[in-house]
Amino acid sequence: MRCPFCNHEESKVTDSRNPEQTNAIRRRRECLRCLRRFTTFETVDLTIQILKRDGHYQDFQQDKLIKGLDAACRHTRISRQQVREIAYKITAELMERQIREIEATELGEISMKYLQQLDTVAYIRFACVYKRFKDVDELKDAIENIALHDEKETVHASEKSSD
Ligand SMILES: [Zn+2]
Repeated sequence: MRCPFCNHEESKVTDSRNPEQTNAIRRRRECLRCLRRFTTFETVDLTIQILKRDGHYQDFQQDKLIKGLDAACRHTRISRQQVREIAYKITAELMERQIREIEATELGEISMKYLQQLDTVAYIRFACVYKRFKDVDELKDAIENIALHDEKETVHASEKSSD
């Protein structure tokens, strides 16, 4: 923590308090160079946690959400830019709610709401994996499995037709 007066890096803590009813820790510091005093606050980072179906928690990460949505929107009219915009909207919605945690299933529902507005194909694809959807990480795998399954069906059908 640099001194706001002289930019010196070193200071000493002269007093540390945790006022009741807040998470902020207030520290009184004294610059070791100019000896001026200043106050800093240390607060809790309000990261949103995703409650997965297995009962474990995972930090909400916009990057992971974008990856999952990207996979769901492959071969649809939704562009990567639109995927990003959806992810930003979802993040903004979570922030507006001022929540600390959200169930993975609810996050899935919010994602579906935005996808539905843009493209029916992407929405259905997302809805298909939704039942098995445990977290954003697993979403990508699930969609790829469905894609593989579809390919097998197609191969099988073409084999039949060649008989
Ligand atoms: Zn200073």
